[in-house]
Amino acid sequence: MENLIDGKAVAAQVRAEVGERVRALQERTGVQCGLATVMVGDDPASAVYVGNKHRACHEAGMASFDIHLAGDIDQDGLHAKIDEVCNDPRIHGMIVQLPLPSHLDEDAALDRIVYTKDADGLTPAAQGRLATLRPGPRPATPNGVVELLRRYDVELSGAHAVIVGRSEIVGKPQAHLLLEQNCTVTICHSRTRDLPSITRQADILVAAVGRPEMLTAEHVRDGVVVVDVGINRLEQGLVGDVDFASVQPKARLITPVPGGVGPMTIAMLLRNCVDAAELAAG
Ligand code: NAP
Repeated sequence: MENLIDGKAVAAQVRAEVGERVRALQERTGVQCGLATVMVGDDPASAVYVGNKHRACHEAGMASFDIHLAGDIDQDGLHAKIDEVCNDPRIHGMIVQLPLPSHLDEDAALDRIVYTKDADGLTPAAQGRLATLRPGPRPATPNGVVELLRRYDVELSGAHAVIVGRSEIVGKPQAHLLLEQNCTVTICHSRTRDLPSITRQADILVAAVGRPEMLTAEHVRDGVVVVDVGINRLEQGLVGDVDFASVQPKARLITPVPGGVGPMTIAMLLRNCVDAAELAAG
């Protein structure tokens, strides 16, 4: 299909560029860029996500540190490990794999990460720096959305971007990132009245709702660029928050699910890491 945004291909490009920068940094300074993952307990889905991150690190020539903590570790023990990672000069980026077991306070754990090493870009400090347009790691998934739009030459300056969803990990940072690109931004959420009348005004529509195929042809105008962040596991497989079958014919460009935004998250996480390593090396 001619109007598909190929997230797999763009993610591969970004990862190759990260690999080049990792090699150049090592040649110039002897420093190997390093990423650490901190996982608590044995959640099988988290183990798969963590494994994917390590594989991507190896492919990009980065060192990776797989820190696996017992499921019954207490908050102090987790914080001590996060501090240790933050103080380790071999590590330039880290992630704490979520969700944590329910006896642990996720917000407190994220607060503990020094923002310069926040590879996910989700700590309050990193999000605050984004909101105030200061340099720092950018939230990986919504930054992946911006990267897709840029690589497909979508005019961002002055475009009306409508985001459906206002979560801390996607919707809100997405709004700040698109504002940073000079879009005119509207954020919609579950209390928004007459959603279709607003989404139909979008030049760029970003769906981050977590409701399978909720946004249909009635929500978009002809020529819109649609980015579907949604990942919903149904019996028939993965679907997004956009009803692809009815929206795709009206869209100028559209991301599929899977193969759209999904592959961008790890690529942007690696990029945050090499940004931090270059900064640390001067
Ligand atoms: P979330 O925390 O559940 O937030 C969903 C947002 O959608 C909320 O702001 C909610 O509004 C809004 N919403 C819910 N129902 C609505 C409705 N009927 N009309 C308008 N707005 C509505 O979800 P999230 O963490 O942002 O994730 C969103 C989707 O992205 C999920 O499918 C998730 O799996 C996916 N995701 C993908 C990636 C990736 O590609 N790597 C990463 C993260 C998330 P209220 O605030 O009013 O409740």
